[in-house]
Amino acid sequence: MYKIEADFINEQKVWEILEKCKNPEPRQIRDVLAKAAEMKGLDLEEVAMLTSISDPALLAELFNTANQVKETIYGKRLVLFAPLYISNLCSNECLYCAFRATNKEITRHALSQQQIAREVNVLIKQGHKRVLLVAGESYPKEGFQYVLDSVKTIYSVKSVHGEIRRVNVNVAPLATEEFKQLKDAGIGTYQIFQETYHRETYSKVHLGGKKRDYNWRAWSLHRAMEAGIDDVGIGVLFGLFDYRFEILAMMQHIKELEEKFGVGPHTISVPRLEPATNSDIASHPPFPVSDIDFRKIVAILRLAVPYTGIIMSTRETAKMRRETFALGVSQISAGSRTNPGGYEEETEDDPSGQFSLGDHRSLDEVIRDVASMGYIPSFCTACYRLGRTGADFMDLAKPGDIKLHCAPNALSSFKEYLQNFARPETAEVGDKLIAETIGSMSGIARQRAEKLVKRVEAGRDDVYC
Ligand code: SAM
Ligand code: SF4
Repeated sequence: MYKIEADFINEQKVWEILEKCKNPEPRQIRDVLAKAAEMKGLDLEEVAMLTSISDPALLAELFNTANQVKETIYGKRLVLFAPLYISNLCSNECLYCAFRATNKEITRHALSQQQIAREVNVLIKQGHKRVLLVAGESYPKEGFQYVLDSVKTIYSVKSVHGEIRRVNVNVAPLATEEFKQLKDAGIGTYQIFQETYHRETYSKVHLGGKKRDYNWRAWSLHRAMEAGIDDVGIGVLFGLFDYRFEILAMMQHIKELEEKFGVGPHTISVPRLEPATNSDIASHPPFPVSDIDFRKIVAILRLAVPYTGIIMSTRETAKMRRETFALGVSQISAGSRTNPGGYEEETEDDPSGQFSLGDHRSLDEVIRDVASMGYIPSFCTACYRLGRTGADFMDLAKPGDIKLHCAPNALSSFKEYLQNFARPETAEVGDKLIAETIGSMSGIARQRAEKLVKRVEAGRDDVYC
C-alpha cells in the first residue's frame, strides 16, 4: 500500500505559487499579517508572500505578529523534553548523518533494555517527564520488537523522583500494522521528517537503504494516522534545499493530512543541518539557512498553522533558542545527548553522536534561563493521559480553553520540578515567577492554578486538570 506517488506534494504548483508571490506589495503583506493575527491559519499563497519578505520593517512586523499569536495561544509556556537515543545502528546512507551505514568513524551501539532503563533513570533524576525515543533504521535481532520493548522499558522505570509520563517516538517509517503496535505501546507523538520535499535533492542525499524511497516516507504519516496515532509530528531538515520551497511543500503535506484525517500534525520540528562526524554536506549545507531566515521560518510557521506546536532542539545555540521562543516555539529539548548511552556516560558532544549540539547546558540551567526570561517551563502530560489527542486536542487548543487547562497544569508541573529537582538558585527564580504568574491570572484559571500548586506544595506529585 502507498507505493504510489505521493501526489499531494505537487512541486510544479509550489514553484508556480512562489513565482506568482515573489514580489508582493507591502500592502499585500500587511493584509496577510492582519489575517494571520486572527489565528485562523494561512493558505499557500499567503505563506509564499511571507517567505518573500526581506525589508527590515516588514520583517519586524512579521515577528511582532508571530509573537502576538504565540502569546495569545500559548501564553508563556514552554514544554520541555529530552531525546533518548537507543541505537545508532543504521542501514541507510543519508549523506548528512553520522549514523549512516558506511561511516566507520563512529562506534555502533544498540542499548540493551537494562541500559535504556539506566538512561531513563538519569533523565528522571534530572526532572524530565517527557522523552523522545530516537533510533537509526536498523534494529538488533529482535527487529521492530526492539522499539516496542524500549517504549515499555521507558514507561516501566519508576523511582522516588518520578517517572517518564509521555514517550514520543522518532523512528523510520513503519507499516500500518507496526504503527498499530506502536500505538498500543502507549506512545504520545510519532514524528518523522521528510528531510526534503524536493524529489531530486531527496535522491541525491539518500544513497542507500530503505530511506531512498521518497514515497514510502511521504505516506508514512497517513499510515500512522490510519493506525490510530492521533498526534503526529512533521519536519524538514533545513539546509538541504531552498527553504521557501520546503515550507510550501510542507504546507501541502499539512493540508493533505487535515483534509484526509480532519486534523493536521500536532507538532512541526525545524532541524537545521549541523556538522556530523565524517559528513561533508552537514558542514557545508547546499542551501545554508541564515539566522535571520531561520527566525523568519519559525515566525511564518507560527502564523500558517497557529495551533500546531513548534519544536526547537539543542541543535541550535542558546541565543537562537531564546530568540525563537518569542516567535512561536512551544517545545524545547534540554540537556540533550545524541549518542546512545550518552546520559549515563555524561559525554558531551561525543563524535558518535548524530550531530553536534549548539546548546550544551543542563536541564536546570536551561530552566533557570527561560524562567528568568518570564517563560514557564512545563512538564505537563495531561492532554495525552486524559485522551485529549488529535482533533480533541485541537478543539481544546483555543486560546480561552488553553488558559483554563494548560496554564494551571504548566504551573503545577513546574512547581513539581522546582520542589524535587531544582538547584536553590533556580527554585528562587521559579517560585517568584509562579507567584507573579498566578497573581496576573483571574477567574477559574487562577483558582485552578492556586489549587494545583498548593497540592504540589503539600507533597502531591502529578496533579493536573
Ligand atoms: N533514523 C530515523 C530517520 O532518519 O527518520 C529517525 C531518527 S533520525 C536519527 C532523526 C532526524 O535527525 C532525521 O530525521 C534528520 O532530520 C535529523 N538529522 C540527521 N542528521 C542531522 C544533522 N547533521 N544535523 C541536524 N539534524 C540531523
Ligand atoms: Fe539513519 Fe536516520 Fe541517520 Fe538517515 S537520518 S542515517 S536513517 S539515523
